[in-house]
Amino acid sequence: MPLLQIENLSIFFGGLRAVHDFNLQVEPGQVRGLIGPNGAGKSTIFNMITGIHTPTEGKITFQGENIIGLSPHEIAEIGIARTFQNMRLWRHMTVIEHVMMARYSKLKYGLFDSFLGTGRAQREEAESRKKALELLKMFKIDHLASEVVTGLPYGVQRRVEMARAMAIEPKLLLLDEPTAGMNPEEMMAMVRVIGNIRDQFEIGIFLIEHRMQVVMGLCEMIQTLNFGEVIAEGTPDEIRSNPVVIEAYLGKEAAA
Ligand code: ADP
Ligand code: MG
Repeated sequence: MPLLQIENLSIFFGGLRAVHDFNLQVEPGQVRGLIGPNGAGKSTIFNMITGIHTPTEGKITFQGENIIGLSPHEIAEIGIARTFQNMRLWRHMTVIEHVMMARYSKLKYGLFDSFLGTGRAQREEAESRKKALELLKMFKIDHLASEVVTGLPYGVQRRVEMARAMAIEPKLLLLDEPTAGMNPEEMMAMVRVIGNIRDQFEIGIFLIEHRMQVVMGLCEMIQTLNFGEVIAEGTPDEIRSNPVVIEAYLGKEAAA
């Protein structure tokens, strides 16, 4: 049974068919890539997986169970984490607070315990802080744990967002243009971070990217979306040399 299975997924916004007949399987330990020009429908696919939009047609199952109709919160609870194309950080919170807040849903003690400051709550808090620091270390931002996120460099903020996503211990991680707005150096660092996540956790990763270089190094299989339709699917080498992709996508990149 695949971790994530999407079959014949379509959605209309008014008269606009934003995604048409999209299919995908993600297994644990795999990185799947989705590329395509702006407006192709990439983020809309994430929004359907995460319960923000309800598809007009099609099926989405996670570990064999239908997830269409679940709320974004419920989707996170079952183990699907995401980052956003436009980062959504909590501006006045510190780096470690981002990760700890995300972890709270995982903690076993109730609000009652935490108000009373019981021994158990304190132990779990300490454990949570330790786990959060380990995660920050993996993203090489542990030295910034008590910094407020506002004002940190953009590449660092992106890492905070990704660490927060990993804090819920997801089985599937959805990354929406994780290198958007980064300079080439930050971009290569982020590629290494994603590679590390793939190597250290047996989770599935579904990566949306605008930039070819990012998917090429990370994904075994890549799909190309244009006007809501998959126009090509294959290995990085197949995608790179596919005339349809070059026409629809790379041609535009080159011309831009
Ligand atoms: P991408 O992420 O590939 O750049 P999007 O998925 O954001 O593209 O958008 C695909 C198309 O769907 C665009 O034409 C966009 O304007 C439209 N769209 C996205 N979200 C909505 C929405 N909530 N309501 C109406 N149209 C939308
Ligand atoms: Mg998008």
